Amino acid sequence: MKHRTPGPSAPDRRRLLAGGGALLVVMTAGPLLAARPGGSGPRDGDRAPSGAPRASSSSSPSPASGWMPGATRRPLERNFVVGDRDAQRGLVLHVQEGEGSLYERFNTPGIKASSHFWVSQDGETEQYVSVLDRAWAQVDGNGSWASVETSGFATRPLTEAQIDSVSRIYAWGAATHGWPPSVSDAPGLPGLGIHSMGGAAWGAHECPGTLRAGQRTEIIRRVKDGRPPAG
Ligand SMILES: [Zn+2]
Repeated sequence: MKHRTPGPSAPDRRRLLAGGGALLVVMTAGPLLAARPGGSGPRDGDRAPSGAPRASSSSSPSPASGWMPGATRRPLERNFVVGDRDAQRGLVLHVQEGEGSLYERFNTPGIKASSHFWVSQDGETEQYVSVLDRAWAQVDGNGSWASVETSGFATRPLTEAQIDSVSRIYAWGAATHGWPPSVSDAPGLPGLGIHSMGGAAWGAHECPGTLRAGQRTEIIRRVKDGRPPAG
């Protein structure tokens, strides 16, 4: 995975991320949040600090809306940018080409790669970055798109549990951030996209492969049907 670092950012950190001290906070399952983020949020994000744990804040105005209830919350300490999202076009599907949580890899200093979500073969969902912040998963697509890594390999389809979990993530994003319930095959078209649709500007990856790309239809069908209930 090669990911370019984002452009210059203003040294204006307007808000703190909650939960910086804890590496693992299991969120309780609950109903989908109806709250929307206020406005477009801060765009002039700040690079995440290296090393020092971020101070916790229990009174920030709305960062909670960037974290999905029911996902295992494991906030990265680096390799993302606070704020710096210019749109909420939807979610980009990736394939891990491996197994196991990506938290340690994405939290490694200098790796310059991350994703908002990761889903295991069993459907376990971890969130590493608030969707109000910029993760580093698809280069020029990072400002407008959220991202989900799925464990396994491009030569094998998503498991039933993964389809279910990705549809839950998408349903949450649709409800809280306005992601449209449709498949996208172009960077300018909102929906559920794939890494490869961005071409060279997104790093020229074939990720996640035709098998998993084709499963987006079923994921979106479940989102439309309201199949992913809370929990
Ligand atoms: Zn990818």
